[in-house]
Amino acid sequence: MNILVTGGTGYIGSHTSVALIEAGHEIVVADNLCNSKASTIDRIKEITGKEVTFYQVDVTGEEALDRLFSKHHFDGVIHFAGLKAVGESVEKPLLYYYNNTVSTMVLSKFCLKNKVKKFIFSSSATVYGDNKVPFVETMELLPTTNPYGETKAISERILKDVANVNPDFEVSILRYFNPVGAHESGLIGEAPTGIPNNIMPYITQVAKGKLEKLKIFGNDYPTVDGTGVRDYIHVMDLAEGHVVALEHLTPGVHIYNLGTGHGASVLQLVHTFEEANGVKIPYEIVGRRPGDIAESYADVSKAERELGWTTKRDIYQMCRDAWNFERNFKE
Ligand code: NAD
Ligand code: UDP
Repeated sequence: MNILVTGGTGYIGSHTSVALIEAGHEIVVADNLCNSKASTIDRIKEITGKEVTFYQVDVTGEEALDRLFSKHHFDGVIHFAGLKAVGESVEKPLLYYYNNTVSTMVLSKFCLKNKVKKFIFSSSATVYGDNKVPFVETMELLPTTNPYGETKAISERILKDVANVNPDFEVSILRYFNPVGAHESGLIGEAPTGIPNNIMPYITQVAKGKLEKLKIFGNDYPTVDGTGVRDYIHVMDLAEGHVVALEHLTPGVHIYNLGTGHGASVLQLVHTFEEANGVKIPYEIVGRRPGDIAESYADVSKAERELGWTTKRDIYQMCRDAWNFERNFKE
């Protein structure tokens, strides 16, 4: 299939681009580079040995999309483009609501206009809020504590309403748990600008000596060791989940959790990283981070049953690949 990948130079988009090409699909990448670099396209080419068409465009802009959809015929769109920093979304709510929901509206509008039937949307486990674990797709969504989470819940709702009156539209909403790790080549991975918000890039930068020590946000949660529990998933497993979801699309809206189904605590993650890579991660326990929940992990039985998809890479491999990328990464 010929697929438009929005946000394809970003972390998850670049890994999914590789997985799509390796599965025999053609891709066109559109990204405004607000949180990534054009050189990622060269890395994708280096890994796959295939040419990749890239456009630097903002996918909230109708004129640019008009040109893109007139130039190419797409069978589907995978919509990764979005802003994702939770703290920043509290500071800049309008930017987040505009970017993340308008892009979804404009892209679905162009899909319908150009008879592009398949649409895959990057949602997040954050839409479950403080539900009881494991999170199941049928659970009522709970309000999240930040605009970022709301943009995901609103985008899901928009896609459901659009599909409701366009019975040929085939939509897959993928709720990611905590993607970590990197492509095994070490050529692409997660390279946040500034001090990382997420735990794995923070750990790898401590390992590299760029940051002094990890601050663990709370050890008084009702969990196995008091630290927060998350369902970490290798980014290549997540990427392959998109290929399978794309290939299984049928009319209507289909929602899938993409996770491993297992939670790991912050301390378990730190110790696994140390063991897997033979490095020490100094840490200190500090207060809880506002908005954090104790536990988040997926019920993955729906993706297993309907897509035949399960994760293949364990938490050791996530830690090894994350460190392999960071070690080789040059600013
Ligand atoms: P990322 O920031 O690495 O990639 C997003 C890409 O979108 C960037 O390259 C950015 O330049 C681009 N972009 C943003 N707004 C754009 C616009 N208007 N037009 C064109 N390009 C634009 O983030 P990621 O981790 O790869 O996340 C991809 C998607 O998955 C996002 O929608 C994110 O909200 C969602 N998600 C991420 C996580 C996570 O932990 N990384 C978890 C759940 C959901
Ligand atoms: N965390 C931490 N220190 C950090 C970053 C994160 O202790 O510097 C914890 C956080 O409280 C949570 C887990 O690590 O329990 C995962 O946090 P992350 O920000 O990576 O993902 P999310 O909050 O989106 O699940």
